[in-house]
Amino acid sequence: MGNRIKISTFCSFTVQTFGQKVINCPALANAWTLAASISDTLHIATEMYIQEISIEINSKVDRDEIVDEFGILMSFYRGSGQTQGSIESQYIVDNKIVCLPYTLEKNSLDKKYDNFYVARQTKKLEELCNSKIQFKTVGKDYDSYKSPCKCKTSSFYILITNYLTIYPPLTCGTCNNYVPLYKLPKYYDYGYIPILSWETNYKSCDSLQMNCEVGERWALNQMQEVKSQLSRQGIEICKKITELTNVSTYYYLHNYRKHKGDQLKRRCPNCNRKWDLKQQLHNFYDFKCDKCKLVSTISANS
Ligand SMILES: [Zn+2]
Ligand SMILES: [Zn+2]
Repeated sequence: MGNRIKISTFCSFTVQTFGQKVINCPALANAWTLAASISDTLHIATEMYIQEISIEINSKVDRDEIVDEFGILMSFYRGSGQTQGSIESQYIVDNKIVCLPYTLEKNSLDKKYDNFYVARQTKKLEELCNSKIQFKTVGKDYDSYKSPCKCKTSSFYILITNYLTIYPPLTCGTCNNYVPLYKLPKYYDYGYIPILSWETNYKSCDSLQMNCEVGERWALNQMQEVKSQLSRQGIEICKKITELTNVSTYYYLHNYRKHKGDQLKRRCPNCNRKWDLKQQLHNFYDFKCDKCKLVSTISANS
């Protein structure tokens, strides 16, 4: 039963309704606490800007072709880290194509953040349509929107995500806010595709282990074993980000093991040194190994 509840613990919407029912159940108390703490730490609510990107079609070019090219531009915006999420509302009204992506900042779509592919595709689309792309901020989707990391220098970064969030998978160790990928040096081929690829893999594993029925154990092991393919891919990305930014980048190792005794006595699964933090970091992390650049939490499954 404990495992089945995982699915509700991550979903802030469900927790509000379902939480009322489960809060008195001792077996679920840990899951509930973890949910609240993860929601807080990872800002799971989609508190972002909604932008309107549109272009008028003032040419005789086939509409289907233009729609395809517009879709390609949107995928390049995701690869450049300027928009969040894997899909956005897109529609045609009269002779105008409109799209409503999420962004982390009001100015995430500024030209200064465009990479080579975004700039090239923008030019192509404007030529096909014989008009200019228009940008408008529609609004924020949540009043208590928290801004992304604004630290002049971050003491470290953490690579972390989960199956629900559409935030970027990098947080600042100093302020605990998200780091827009477009603020980092270009990772690979003018963009951040390797980071986004790891993110998709992680979300896939997290979805499997949350749904419980297919590959739950396998997926969980991918997330919590330091030597798994998923962890190795993530740790490589951390090393590369460190190299590009000179900011140490830690890998978040999920922990949902069954432990007996004092969990804080656990040692770093990579180097076997003590790694418990005297004080919890950002009300979430309990373990941090500065040698292996790993962070983790006490298991909610004990
Ligand atoms: Zn920061
Ligand atoms: Zn270690």
